[in-house]
Amino acid sequence: MSTRTARARRSTPACWRSSNVRLSDVEHQEVAKSRLLRALAGARVPHAYLFIGPEGVGKQMMAMRFARLLLCPRALPAAHAAPDGGRETCGDCDDCRMLAGGVHPDYRVISRASHRLHPDRAVQRRRPIDISIDVVREFVINQMSTRPARGRAKIFVIDEAEMLTTQAENSLLKTLEEPPAGSYLILVATSDANLLPTIRSRCQVVPFGPLPTDYIVRRLSSTPDLSPSDARYVAELSEGRLGPAQRLVLTKAPERRERVLHMLSAAIRNPLDLGKPFTALTEEIIAIGEKLADARDAVVNRVDDDREEAEASEGGAAEFVPEPHALRKARREVLAMMAAALRDAMRLACGARPLGHAEPPDIARAIADLARTLGRDRAARAIRAVAEAEAQIDLNANLSLVLDGLGIALSRDHQGVEAA
Ligand SMILES: [Zn+2]
Repeated sequence: MSTRTARARRSTPACWRSSNVRLSDVEHQEVAKSRLLRALAGARVPHAYLFIGPEGVGKQMMAMRFARLLLCPRALPAAHAAPDGGRETCGDCDDCRMLAGGVHPDYRVISRASHRLHPDRAVQRRRPIDISIDVVREFVINQMSTRPARGRAKIFVIDEAEMLTTQAENSLLKTLEEPPAGSYLILVATSDANLLPTIRSRCQVVPFGPLPTDYIVRRLSSTPDLSPSDARYVAELSEGRLGPAQRLVLTKAPERRERVLHMLSAAIRNPLDLGKPFTALTEEIIAIGEKLADARDAVVNRVDDDREEAEASEGGAAEFVPEPHALRKARREVLAMMAAALRDAMRLACGARPLGHAEPPDIARAIADLARTLGRDRAARAIRAVAEAEAQIDLNANLSLVLDGLGIALSRDHQGVEAA
């Protein structure tokens, strides 16, 4: 593979390159689908879109599919496209092949990882904590001013657009106001809370919703070594987001379930001891995530010259510091598992079954213990306390204070009952 091809491939995450993706492959997103098809059918496609919705529900797949409809010279007019899985694009012209291979010169995905491809060494070495103005200038604004390499259109997708710095957003405003002919910008975001209102108002908003739990269970059902009970557990935990559900399977979340249950019962007895096991779990999740990312990189580009060079010139591997995004995600995951355990205990205390049917015996026993200790009302209050802790962590509150507070909220009623 040439360096240029390798670079282009590296700039497009693997999940965006699945071959021959059809619009109908994006399931349960009818509002988004019909909005995009209507625009294509009317031949008045807006030049800027904001795809907004939870992580892992098909936004990227839809962007890829939409790009193919714009780039494939043999694309059927969308009005006549079969809505039930029919081939809307040919799938084997040069454009379709290049898109499937992640090397189409007129389709560019910009993400937090794009800084690694920036010509400036100083930009390359930055940690991927945001999408900077340097990245937007280099990979969007400068590229947009040139003509499409293959004549039809130029499509720029900014993944995790909520990670754009304010400077980067401001630099995009002019482009959004007067987009060069034939160029399209798709911002993909989980929330518009961090986007400038002026960015949002210049884009056509396409909403995406969470997916049904049963659909996620079905999609996970072919995973080797995943029991139906674990599939259901992971699907519930993911709150209608297939991407995170698949990641929870890869990072073996069900295996941490018993420890989360033990952590909860220990916190009920010793409220100030929550910090240690909580931190151990988040560190484990981050470490597994890093390992998976490294393995994926190794498959996508077997030798990552630039990174190795950059690391060598920095004088060897520095002490690992997780990026804030990964840290927040891992903490949210542990809290979600705590909430799920408490919800199961609450259901059991109400006489209902926990949600993940046919639990493994150890898990069932631990949930029953928790249900007995807490009872229905206290379990409900504990769920609220976990939700509050999650909100505080999202606001970057001090973790030990949040966890001490959560431990006390979990144990207070327990001790109150003992005292009574
Ligand atoms: Zn084609």
